[in-house]
Amino acid sequence: MHLKQIAPTRYDIWFLPLGGTGEIGMNMNLYGHAGEWLMVDCGIGFDSENGRNSYIADAEFIEKQASSLQALVITHAHEDHIGAIIELWPKLKVPIFATPFAIEMIFNKLSKEPWLAQVPLHIVNFNQSYQLGSFSVTWLPLPHSIPESSALLIETDIGNILHTGDWKKDSNPVLGLPFDKAIFSALKKLPIDVLVADSTNATKLGQSVSESSVYPDLLKTIQAQTGRVVVTCFSSNVARFVTLVRIAHKLKKRCAVFGRSLENMVSIARRLGYWPEELELVDPKHIGYLPREEVMVIATGSQAEPRSATQKLALGYHPWLFLEPGDSIIYSAIKIPPNRKAIDEQIMHFKNQEVNVIHADDSKQNGLVLHASGHPCQQDLLTFYGLMNPKMLIPTHGENEHLSAHKNLAEKAGIEKVLAGENGDLFKIKPFAKKLDHWVAVNKIQVG
Ligand SMILES: [Zn+2]
Ligand SMILES: [Zn+2]
Repeated sequence: MHLKQIAPTRYDIWFLPLGGTGEIGMNMNLYGHAGEWLMVDCGIGFDSENGRNSYIADAEFIEKQASSLQALVITHAHEDHIGAIIELWPKLKVPIFATPFAIEMIFNKLSKEPWLAQVPLHIVNFNQSYQLGSFSVTWLPLPHSIPESSALLIETDIGNILHTGDWKKDSNPVLGLPFDKAIFSALKKLPIDVLVADSTNATKLGQSVSESSVYPDLLKTIQAQTGRVVVTCFSSNVARFVTLVRIAHKLKKRCAVFGRSLENMVSIARRLGYWPEELELVDPKHIGYLPREEVMVIATGSQAEPRSATQKLALGYHPWLFLEPGDSIIYSAIKIPPNRKAIDEQIMHFKNQEVNVIHADDSKQNGLVLHASGHPCQQDLLTFYGLMNPKMLIPTHGENEHLSAHKNLAEKAGIEKVLAGENGDLFKIKPFAKKLDHWVAVNKIQVG
């Protein structure tokens, strides 16, 4: 009988996604070499039906052999990349490596856990290599929609991987480092044996819009409102808050932040030097007493999350502010498909109160840019791949339609080998490219 080989030898490099490949969210990836494993990201996912239940990937495969897991390395601090650490760390007991912003966010999330003191949290620097067992890992800066997003260069003695994480090609991301072509074109000579890459916007033609390009249209839109203005956006997009507070200052409005996750984010950004000191915020409890035309609020809840500040404003029970006819709500975010129904209901509540509603998705049709995605479109992907000429590509971070669009694009770009699959498939990179379907049984575990 032929027995299944369950551990990578020193002649193997394996990639095994347990979450995030064939779906949006819940990213959890394993790389295997020389009897050892490295985990990249450990995130949470949300229900595709109504977006209200949260899930993590079934990590039983690696829990059973946690002693061969060298480290958990984090690409960036979004929930779909760090949100499962709180559930899984006690089972894995693995050292965690991440940039300062992500470490701060992880620390915050784990702050009430009695085991926090046992977690080895290691802060890494960009462009510096860390030897983690038989893997050498280097964090390379890439713009995204949260500070310090990184691609990971993972080198072994027999081959090299570039894991992109979430990224966009942005030459002016407002905060943090711009896209640096030189970093990635230098990888050509390694060479890169496999590129494991973000597929979120692989179905979209053209180039993604720069984070800096939302400023003029948001300014114009906010300036045109006569009453109070509330803007809601994703609570981890620090660059967007900075843009919004700059606009408030320019228009001589006084700006407050509503919602715990936003308050947390601003204080982390301040601690790490990402918040421009001249941008002052007013005490949110005082905002309701100011003249209407001076009031601007940035609020959590662009996805109509049940207890968010925007939802409380929509239902008229926010403790600090009651919106009146003629006030405005601006959604500087997309409607994520599972949340569409809840957002539309929220919008209806605002309209019933005669509050003006402006949504980035609708404004786009009128040529107004009120939101910029944090992911690369087709032209960006092609430019990126041209810089390093990877020998092989594995599309990840997307549903099947995104993965297959990405596969087609990469094949057209002339990448020799493109393997698309899903969670639980084993992708052999060395000694030769091969995909073994359903190699590990994968399930979703509901956590909330
Ligand atoms: Zn992501
Ligand atoms: Zn992300």
